[in-house]
Amino acid sequence: MLDRMPAAPPRDDPRWGWEFTVENFVFARLDDDRAAADTLTDQADREHAHARIAALRHLAALHSIYVGADGENWCRCFSCEPGSGVPCATIRLLAQQWSQHPDLPDAATGPVISSLDDVAAAGGFAAHYQQQKHAAPRTPGDAAGSRSSTASPGGD
Ligand SMILES: [Zn+2]
Repeated sequence: MLDRMPAAPPRDDPRWGWEFTVENFVFARLDDDRAAADTLTDQADREHAHARIAALRHLAALHSIYVGADGENWCRCFSCEPGSGVPCATIRLLAQQWSQHPDLPDAATGPVISSLDDVAAAGGFAAHYQQQKHAAPRTPGDAAGSRSSTASPGGD
């Protein structure tokens, strides 16, 4: 069950809706991509593009701001913990695929979770661990020697 954010603006608040700008941008770009995919002449390429877009739409849906059956905006994404920010890191990263698009919302720009940069570059936590293990051999008495990463499951 989702926990509501305590500061969800009421519907009559003029600020209501700002939190949807990044997800609206993502879904609009995926609509653009789907229209482009429809024009692909190679069936395998078209099917691959449609599968990628469908997966990204589901990912975006998982990280869209939750609006209940009563229409109430819970002012947090469907999947992330309330402390993950609005918009959450995942929907912001999805938007950053189109970082050169003139309509990219300001809320989608800037660092997301910088402590995960090395993990993302490595290809995941397991690969990052292997890189760290082989790059910085531990010496006796170096209790924190291979813990140079600041990545943690909680982000930053
Ligand atoms: Zn999220």
